[in-house]
Amino acid sequence: MATAANVLKPDFQSQKKHFIFTPEHDQLRESIGRFVEKELAPHAEEWEETTFPDSIFPRMGELGFLGLSYPEEYGGQGGDYYCNIVLAEEMAKCNSGGVAMGVAVHTDMATPPVFLFGTEEQKQRYLVPSIKGEKISCLGITEPDAGSDVAGIKTRAVRDGDEYVINGSKTFITNGHRADYIVLVTKTDPDAGYDGFTLFLVDMDGEGVIREKRLEKLGMHSSDTALLAFQDVRVPADAVLGEIGKGFYHIMWELQGERLIGAAGCVAGAQRSFDKTKQYALERKAFGREIGHFQAIRHKFAEMAVKIETARQMVYTTAWRFQNGEYPVREISIAKLYAARVAVEVADECIQIHGGAGYMKEVGIERAWRDARLNRIGAGTDEIMLDVIGRSYGL
Ligand SMILES: Cc1cc2nc3c(=O)[nH]c(=O)nc-3n(C[C@H](O)[C@H](O)[C@H](O)COP(=O)(O)OP(=O)(O)OC[C@H]3O[C@@H](n4cnc5c(N)ncnc54)[C@H](O)[C@@H]3O)c2cc1C
Repeated sequence: MATAANVLKPDFQSQKKHFIFTPEHDQLRESIGRFVEKELAPHAEEWEETTFPDSIFPRMGELGFLGLSYPEEYGGQGGDYYCNIVLAEEMAKCNSGGVAMGVAVHTDMATPPVFLFGTEEQKQRYLVPSIKGEKISCLGITEPDAGSDVAGIKTRAVRDGDEYVINGSKTFITNGHRADYIVLVTKTDPDAGYDGFTLFLVDMDGEGVIREKRLEKLGMHSSDTALLAFQDVRVPADAVLGEIGKGFYHIMWELQGERLIGAAGCVAGAQRSFDKTKQYALERKAFGREIGHFQAIRHKFAEMAVKIETARQMVYTTAWRFQNGEYPVREISIAKLYAARVAVEVADECIQIHGGAGYMKEVGIERAWRDARLNRIGAGTDEIMLDVIGRSYGL
């Protein structure tokens, strides 16, 4: 309630709580944040060199963070979609985009299709241990010859009696080296267009599954990224996830959640770079005063704040629509496109404000930029987002 005092004197420190969050979300935020700062952030530098350890998953499972919105009967916490947004935001505190991405692939990309499309037996076999962190998952869409053009994939699954035989390859697969299973996108009927795709749950230790080289990257160094081959991999017919022939639609649904969670992570990462850089700008002096007090620098912060806040509102409003049963593909695409651009622009401006220090590894801002850069490519490039948005207007 506005009073004369606070109308006359704006309070810039007031709590910036959004209406989608309840006190329970605040508590969850606090407990995830505490864990991330205490158990993940201190290892950020080391894991850039070694990739993060698998033990993160059972630890997060033990704390209940891997199944926040899954029902309690599967070991989840029974929360709403906003809990996943909270997780994505708090993971930014680990100062390592690769760790946040590896966890998000598990919680918000590979396991949601198992929950939504899986049989009860598949949920018991894959979802329950995933929520405990006993099984690690990955998602295989992209191939060496088809990324944006998902319909152009070549991995084939051919029925042979009670089994399917899978041949093909996938690339850029996050968690591909550590995963116990993969949600694999295949073509079962190449002549059926969009109705010829089928998802499979494939155990990664199965015969014919080959984890080829660990790919080296610009950023996200703490995550593992794999080139995978599938050579005459035999899986039982009940390894089909969802409906035969409906895999394309299933994976398009999956991508919406993936994009929104990615957007939430982008906003949180940008906010983190902003806060860190503000601190620096208030300490670093040039020409006899703190650089943050030069109008040119102050305006950089103002521009960044406008972008971050706009992206945040877009993400929260879209999450509200998603939570309330809408399938807001246009808004998710807008949020993903904008938040990814903002994350990169903010990280770049933060490097600039740090001057030479921003270019140095030890400060960590250059890593924020390198990590953020992926977001304009992964889960659908800027160009594909623009195309989805444009087409949604009938163009
Ligand atoms: C670090 C990392 C982790 C990843 N993790 C995973 C993962 O876990 N699982 C997974 O399946 N994939 C993963 N990916 C793959 C990622 O989703 C793809 O790289 C992305 O979708 C783009 O596909 P592409 O690389 O084949 O690029 P391409 O599709 O070859 O695109 C190349 C360029 O052409 C543009 N372009 C393509 N089509 C059009 C068009 N119609 N109109 C305008 N421009 C167009 C693109 O925007 C891009 O600029 C990951 C990628 C990276 C880099």
